[in-house]
Parts: sequence; C-alpha cells; structure tokens
Amino acid sequence: MPENVMVIGGGPVGAFSAYFLKKIHMDVKWIAGKSMQNAAAWSSAGLLGVGLSFPLPEYEGLRGNVKWLLKRDSPVKLGVGFLFSNAGWFLNYSRSRDRIISKEGINAQTLLTVRTLDSMNELFQSKVIDADCSKNGLLQLFSDNHFMEEHLKQLKDAEGQIGKYDLLDSQACKDMEPSIERNNIMGIFYPEEYSLNPQKLMMSLRKLNEEEGVETIENDIVGLESSGNKVTGTVLDNEERIVSGSYLLAAGSKNQHLSRSLNLHVPVVPGWGHAEVLSSSGLKLKVPVELAEKGVYIIPTSDILKITSFFEFNGENFKAPQNRFQFIENAVADYFPQLKHLPPSQKTSGKRPCTPDSLPIVGKSGKFENLFFATGNCRQGIMQSAEMGRVAADVILNGKLPEEYSVLSPSRFGI
Ligand SMILES: Cc1cc2nc3c(=O)[nH]c(=O)nc-3n(C[C@H](O)[C@H](O)[C@H](O)COP(=O)(O)OP(=O)(O)OC[C@H]3O[C@@H](n4cnc5c(N)ncnc54)[C@H](O)[C@@H]3O)c2cc1C
Repeated sequence: MPENVMVIGGGPVGAFSAYFLKKIHMDVKWIAGKSMQNAAAWSSAGLLGVGLSFPLPEYEGLRGNVKWLLKRDSPVKLGVGFLFSNAGWFLNYSRSRDRIISKEGINAQTLLTVRTLDSMNELFQSKVIDADCSKNGLLQLFSDNHFMEEHLKQLKDAEGQIGKYDLLDSQACKDMEPSIERNNIMGIFYPEEYSLNPQKLMMSLRKLNEEEGVETIENDIVGLESSGNKVTGTVLDNEERIVSGSYLLAAGSKNQHLSRSLNLHVPVVPGWGHAEVLSSSGLKLKVPVELAEKGVYIIPTSDILKITSFFEFNGENFKAPQNRFQFIENAVADYFPQLKHLPPSQKTSGKRPCTPDSLPIVGKSGKFENLFFATGNCRQGIMQSAEMGRVAADVILNGKLPEEYSVLSPSRFGI
C-alpha cells in the first residue's frame, strides 16, 4: 500500500482526491497550482445537474456539435489551427459515439454525479464546507420553437436516464422568474438541479484540506521524471524537485502537456468557456436560468450572479477576445435588460478538460506502476468531483478500479 501520494491539481477533482486520501491516512502532498483562477472550476457555472447528467447527443455527439458550429452567432467554436494540431483527438472523438451513449458510460456518469451530491451534502450539512448550494432547479428558456422541439425529442429519447422536467408556456416562465422581460418564450424546468458558487467551493476545500493536515504547495510543476516503469519525481516551477511514492495526475486539461514528460499521451484537450461575475444586487433571480439557444447560464447565489457560456476548442494559451463577453452580455440583456449596464466584477475563462469519448479517466496507469489519473470530466467536473476524488483514493489504496467504473479506466487510451 503506498503511503505517500502526490496529488497534482488544485481544482475540485484534485482537492477532493487529496481530502479522501488524507481520510484513509495517506501522507498527502497536494500541488494545488499557482493560482485558483487557473482551474476551470473558477470560471464554471456551478450547476450540479443531477437530472441532466445524461450526455445528450446535442451537446456531446459529433452531429450535434457540427450543427452548433454551423449556426450563426454560436457559442460553440473550433480553432482551425487547434483542429489540425489535435487531429488524432478529433478522429478519436468522431469514432467514439458508441462509448458516449453506452449504457456503462451513462451509468458511470450518473453514479459519479449522484454520489458527488451525497458527499457534498454531507459536508455542507455538517458545515465543514460552504458554497451557497441550493436546490432551486434550472429553467431552460427557448425563443425558437423548432429548437425546443428538437431538444424535447432528445429528452424523450433519454427517458428513464434523466430526471423530472416540466414544460412551461410564456406566462408560466414569467410566473416562475418574474424578472424575465421578454415575450413569446417557452421553457423547460428541471426541478432536481442544484447550483452552488464554485469559487466558494474551491476556497472552502482549500481551507478544509489545510485543516485536515494536507501539505499544500501553491505552485505549478513543469514535468514529471521517471525511471523504467516508475515515476520518480516532479519538478516545480522554481526548479525544486519533490518526490513521492505515488502520483495522481488531476491537473485538468494541463494533464496532456504534463504527461508528455513521461512519453504518455493523455487525451485531454481544453474546451474553453467564458464567464462573468456580477453583483447579485443588480437583479435578484429566483431560479438559475439557461438561455438555451445561446448556451448561456445565469446562476444566482447569495451574493453574486454567475454568467457563463461558450464551448470553444482552442490551445492552452488562448486568450478570449472581447467579443465573447459581448456575446454573453447581449444574450443576457435580451431577457434581462435590467442587467445591461451593470459592470461585471470579473471576466474569466476556463478550460474544461475534455476526452474524445466524453467520459472521464480515473484509475491506475498501465505504463507506470505508481501513476494514477483523475481527470477528463469536461462539462461535469464540479458535479462529479467528490466521487472522482473518492474513487481515485480507493484505487490508490486497493490498486483496482471498482467494477461500476471500469468503463472509465485509463486502459481504453493505452495509458
Ligand atoms: C464556463 C464553464 C462552465 C462550467 N459549468 C459547469 C457546471 O455548471 N457544472 C460542472 O459540474 N462543471 C462545469 N464546468 C466544468 C468544470 O469546471 C470542470 O469540469 C472542472 O473544473 C474540472 O475539474 P478539475 O479539477 O479536473 O480541473 P480544473 O478545475 O481545471 O483544475 C485543474 C487544476 O490543475 C492545476 N494545474 C494546471 N497545471 C498545473 C501544473 N503544471 N502544475 C500544478 N497544477 C497545475 C490548476 O491550477 C488547477 O488548480 C464548467 C466549466 C467552464 C469553463
């Protein structure tokens, strides 16, 4: 049994991994990264989509994404240079449709989400962490009838896999959320969705881990070293070398880059999303809202409104042009003109860690006997984070991935 574990990555998956490893009395070094803002989680919406964890082909499948890409004024984008430099990933993606919607894949994703919520609820209830979590549902708003019909068809196809939802006419949407100032709309309400403030979650987890005695190193690593089939150390940005018995890679989309130092190809590419934070005093929304045609989410928590959109495949060093934020602001002002002139207190971008088959990677490396992975949760890394961390700790302790998660094994990518 390895006693020393180094967890690389300060996002929610790394944070929960460090937490659960410490709970089973491992000696944990947590490389939490230089800045919390570098985590995708910092920019995320914070939805815990218990009812929506089913991967709808509209969002995950090739056809659905091509359709989004071809739309004018679309929040889905693909950098041409990025497409060519990651051609292998895209080829794998185009061939992975079966795995995306396989029964094992859906079951594993659903379990990750449901069990994460259980773990988080326990921590929230005992007041060990606080992230303004509430179960207010999610109101999806549509202005295009055809688009809504297509979406409903996908929901029907996924019957039994997704949670409850209700159809709302224009008046019912406004009754539910009186701040909406747009007519001729339709809505779908998902009552089982939770939402939280992801920045508060991260700060809370950082504090919790410190209290639990996790050694936290707020720096980046530049690579890993190996000898034969063992990882032998990591080198920090300041050239300091640190060693451990085992290593868990949980550095989000950066895993692809970091694993190159081991001659491994972890197929996790960045799916960028952009976010604005507004003070909640400008508008008190009663429910989290999604503007479906624009892929814009507006999530109220006690003191902020978090607004996110875009799914943009582009390089690690991509910097979002101003027009991305303008797109978000215009979409929001269309339904909530009250927000038009309210200045955001933050504009950030985050890199969702995306695998070609839309399933996360958790488990032991087949190439290095003391290397483990917990990554690739793409759009669902907050809602699956606690269970990802628990499973990673379990695999490091027992050397074996639980049967119900075997579809998530790194072996499917030969790593
Ligand atoms: C706009 C947007 C909206 C989203 N909405 C939701 C949502 O509603 N619900 C949901 O569940 N998910 C959502 N997501 C996805 C979610 O944020 C990610 O899936 C999740 O953050 C992944 O967690 P992670 O810990 O694997 O990676 P990250 O959160 O990306 O964290 C990676 C960590 O690795 C660290 N790191 C990187 N490089 C190094 C290095 N060289 N050395 C050391 N550390 C390093 C970083 O500093 C960071 O701390 C959204 C994402 C975005 C961008």
